[in-house]
Amino acid sequence: MKNNYYPFVNQPLPYDDQALEPYIDEKTMHLHHDRHLQTYIDNLNEILKQEVQLQKLSLEQLIQISGRLPYRLQAPIRNNAGGVFNHRFFFEGMANPAPQGPDGVLRQRIIREFGSLDDFLEQFRSAALSVFGSGYAWLVWNQRRLKIMTTPNQNCPVEQGLRPILVIDVWEHAYYLKHYNLRGNYIKDWMPIINWKQAEKTFLHAQNRSCRR
Ligand code: MN
Repeated sequence: MKNNYYPFVNQPLPYDDQALEPYIDEKTMHLHHDRHLQTYIDNLNEILKQEVQLQKLSLEQLIQISGRLPYRLQAPIRNNAGGVFNHRFFFEGMANPAPQGPDGVLRQRIIREFGSLDDFLEQFRSAALSVFGSGYAWLVWNQRRLKIMTTPNQNCPVEQGLRPILVIDVWEHAYYLKHYNLRGNYIKDWMPIINWKQAEKTFLHAQNRSCRR
């Protein structure tokens, strides 16, 4: 991930606002990137401006230490560093047209742990549906195996030392303009635009990092 240190800038999406049509609409992508993500970036920069000793930490390091910071900084850093990381990861994790399913080691691993790609997608779908209020559903690597999990708000699995492989943003702002209140339809529309190439790359990287420990 580029621009991983203060001052954070809102880098352009890796595709045009309308690139994910008809699955995710242009207006949603525009507002999601240019307004919602921008706000997290602005807030994070504003906090870090006053906290010189935190300016040399990477985005992931900020998330990892958020729970050990002085109390007044814990929620602001968790929410805003998480808001930047989660959105960047979500946007990078989509492509249209998308590569057809995972191949290579990620595919093998998913089949080994979930039975089949369809079984995995079904479990992922129900996890994403089950998030109460705002949050995310993730596929993460926990150093030994793949795991589906959810996080509330802008909490990020990186805080628990987990390595994200896939994510879907299920905050209403991610789908309300097109799918209204029907999160299930949005999840169904997200599945054909999963950037499996990116997921595979992230998975290989996560595995290598855990081997070096
Ligand atoms: Mn969002």
